[in-house]
Amino acid sequence: MTAARSFDDRLDTYLDILLKLGLNLQPDQALLIDAGIADIEDMAPVVRLLARKAYTLGARHVFVDWSDAQLERTRLLAESEGALSEVPMWQIHWLEELGEQGAAFLSLYAPDPHLNDGIDPARLTISQRARMQAGAKVAAAAAALRHPWLVGSLATRAWARSVYPDKPEAEAITALWDYIFMSTRVNEPDPLAAWRTHLDTLNKRVTYLNAANFRYLHYHAPGTDLQLQLPGLQEWVGGGNSVSAQGIPFVPNLPTEEVFCAPYRAGVDGVVTSTLPLNYNGQLVEGIRIRFENGRIVEYGATKGREALEEIIETDEGSHYLGEVALVTVDSPVNTGTPVLNTLFDENASCHLAIGRAYPINVHGGASMSQEELAAHGLNYSLAHVDFMVGSDQLDIDGETASGARQPILRGGKWVAQ
Ligand code: ZN
Ligand code: ZN
Repeated sequence: MTAARSFDDRLDTYLDILLKLGLNLQPDQALLIDAGIADIEDMAPVVRLLARKAYTLGARHVFVDWSDAQLERTRLLAESEGALSEVPMWQIHWLEELGEQGAAFLSLYAPDPHLNDGIDPARLTISQRARMQAGAKVAAAAAALRHPWLVGSLATRAWARSVYPDKPEAEAITALWDYIFMSTRVNEPDPLAAWRTHLDTLNKRVTYLNAANFRYLHYHAPGTDLQLQLPGLQEWVGGGNSVSAQGIPFVPNLPTEEVFCAPYRAGVDGVVTSTLPLNYNGQLVEGIRIRFENGRIVEYGATKGREALEEIIETDEGSHYLGEVALVTVDSPVNTGTPVLNTLFDENASCHLAIGRAYPINVHGGASMSQEELAAHGLNYSLAHVDFMVGSDQLDIDGETASGARQPILRGGKWVAQ
C-alpha cells in the first residue's frame, strides 16, 4: 500500500523541477524571480519557498521583481495617457544588468483572464507598447539565450475561478494545482527520469524534422488551409534542449511539449483559424481568423476580443508576420480537452503559431547573427511575440521537400512522422 502524497510534498517536487530541470540553477549563480500579473498574496508563499530552495542549491543572490495585479489594474485605470506611456528605465536596467551577468530568470506566469475587463483597450495598448519598447533589449537577450530563463506557473485564486467557475474557490485551486502537477509530470514515480524520457521524444522529433529538411508545411483543418515556407537553413528546436551562452542546458518552458521553428517571413499563404481562446494581457480573444499573402497578414478577425487582436497585429510592421511555428501532438498530458486560459499551458496542449518576433536560434548560427543577418535569412523581427493556438484533433500537417515529395507529420492532431 502506498500513501497518497501530500500537497506540500508534490509542491516541493514541482519547485525542484522548476529550479533543477527548468533553470538548471548553478552554484554561485544569481536568480531573478519575476512575480508578476497575479495578486501578491497568491504569489508570495511560493516565491518564499523558491528562494529558500534556490539558496539551498547554492544561489549567490535571489532577487524578486514583485508586482501585484490589483495595483496594476489601479494604475491602468488612474494614470494619465502620458504617464501610461512612460516606463522608468531603472525598472529595466537591473534586468539588463542581471542578464549580462548570466543570472537565471524565472517568470511565474499566472494571469487572471478577466483582470483587465472594463479597462479601455486603447489605454492597455499604450501601456503594453511602452513596456515592450522599454524591454526590447531584455527580450532580445532572452530570445538569443544569453542567460538561462524559464516560464513556469502557480495556481492563483483569480485564475482558478476562471477555469473552474462552478467549483468553490478552495476546490478550484486544488483542481488547478492538480492540473499543473499532472502536466509537469510531478505525479510520476521518478519525475526527473520521466522528463528525460519525454525530452528524448521531443529530440527525436527535432532530429526527424531537421533531417527531412522540409521546404513547406501544409496545414488542413476546419477553417484552416495554410502553406508555410521554412527559411532553408532552418533549425528545429525542441522545447527542452536550450543551452545558454554560458553553456548551461535549460528548459525554457515548463510544461513543454513543442518542437518549433521560424517560418520564412515572406512565405506564408492562406487562412488559419484558432482553436483555443487566447488570454492576452488580461483580455480573452476567441475565434481568431487570419489570412496571409506572401507572409503578411492581409485580413484578420475574431469572434471575441477583436480589439486585443488588433493591438497585437498593429504593434509594428513585424507584427503583421509570423515568427514561430510549433508542433504539438494532441495526446500530450497538458491537453485535457479544456483550455486553461494560460498560454504557457494551452500552447503546450496545441500546435501554435506566433505573431511577431522569431527566435534567432531557429536558423543555423542565428544566435550570433545581427538583426540584419537574421532578416536576410528570412527571420521576422517585431517587438511582439504572441502565440495563438491552432491545433485540434482535426488538424493534418504535411511536410513538403524541395523536390515536392510530401510526408504526413500530424494526422488528426497526432504525431505520425517517424
Ligand atoms: Zn512555442
Ligand atoms: Zn512562442
